[in-house]
Amino acid sequence: MYVKSLLSAARDIRIEQAEMPGEIAPDHVRLRLATASICGTDMHYFRHFANAGFFLDNPVTLGHEACAYVEDANGHGFRPGQLVAINPVIECGTCAKCRAGDINMCATKRFPGSATTKPHIDGFFRERFDFPARCCHAVAETINPDHLTFAEPLACAMHAVNRAGVSPGDRVLVTGCGPMGLLATVGAAAKGAEVAVTDLKTAAIEAAWAVGASAGYVTGEDSPERAAYDVVIEASGSPHAYNQALDAVRYQGTIGVLSLIQPSEIPINLHLNALKEVRSVGSILFTREFADAVALIAGGEVDFEAITAARFAVAETQAACELMADGRAVGKVLIKPA
Ligand SMILES: [Zn+2]
Ligand SMILES: [Zn+2]
Repeated sequence: MYVKSLLSAARDIRIEQAEMPGEIAPDHVRLRLATASICGTDMHYFRHFANAGFFLDNPVTLGHEACAYVEDANGHGFRPGQLVAINPVIECGTCAKCRAGDINMCATKRFPGSATTKPHIDGFFRERFDFPARCCHAVAETINPDHLTFAEPLACAMHAVNRAGVSPGDRVLVTGCGPMGLLATVGAAAKGAEVAVTDLKTAAIEAAWAVGASAGYVTGEDSPERAAYDVVIEASGSPHAYNQALDAVRYQGTIGVLSLIQPSEIPINLHLNALKEVRSVGSILFTREFADAVALIAGGEVDFEAITAARFAVAETQAACELMADGRAVGKVLIKPA
């Protein structure tokens, strides 16, 4: 028996005692949760039982960011007890996009805790689970699992940084210091950029300083310099922030869109896109950056504690999601076994 959380309706997470299946699928390994973390996507499902117009068909365990210990390698060469980073993207591996390495563009990829994968695959906010062996990457035992769980969201942030072409010495502005903005700060700083950030909360800006930002602007009190940044990474999801990005980016600079700005009535100043010859580059998930993110975490240089808001047990997943939903937490909320 093990403890499993299950989103059964909007804002309603049930806790169950569950039984693992008797058989492990041949391509899977059996894992024991080390640490998971809550993503903005999980929050959409928590609030609406849907994300970006995709509704869940049935109750599902949320969570696609986690690392785990191998309990049963099922013939896949892992040592029992081995700590693994989990790449949650289950790409088909054979289509043209997969063969080109663009696994994030695979049309038939599967993803845990997501309405876009049918039937849904339960995510990682549970104490035990099976997952494809090829998605599991053995890491050094010295890595703190509470840091390793950042591998997936950090890979997403590093993909946006790469897509936007951030280079050493670039002036980069990150709009929004939620978890993704903080991790974009980590990714841009790792590239040798000079990083400034914006946020509504002073505490979030302070967290960004701890992970590599050298300037911060509290929205409403202070504004970043106009037409001054080689790259702006939009990580807030606000159309206002996109307009701020259009103001702050230099002529012929680049805006990397890491957030999912929802459709809204707020006009976007697209004339600035043309007048300043701005390059606007979207980004979703990651490709080769998963390995880069694991390597950056293994390096031990990033202060992940400074961008960790709180820790909860799997049985407390409801409370963990409520804390995230309330918007006051700075950094990631982690989910741990009891
Ligand atoms: Zn995520
Ligand atoms: Zn594919």
